[in-house]
Amino acid sequence: MPIYEYKCSQCSHQFEKLVKMSDQTPACPACAGNQVQRAVSLPAISTQKSRGYTHGIARRKAKSIKKEQDHAQAEYERNYIKDHS
Ligand SMILES: [Zn+2]
Repeated sequence: MPIYEYKCSQCSHQFEKLVKMSDQTPACPACAGNQVQRAVSLPAISTQKSRGYTHGIARRKAKSIKKEQDHAQAEYERNYIKDHS
């Protein structure tokens, strides 16, 4: 669901609103007027960007966990060889 930015042309109040496809332009929350114009929906773009950022972190985290597991495995093998030789 996209978040749209609106600006009231009666009182110049700006606000953001989560809008369903079927929804009509909302009334201004400040003056209750309906002279509201939709602006560019920047929040949707930034949400997408931050989602990609989170994915990057998750991937990096998974990689470091894998590294830790490899390390533990190597340690285990080293101890095993030491104990059984
Ligand atoms: Zn207004």
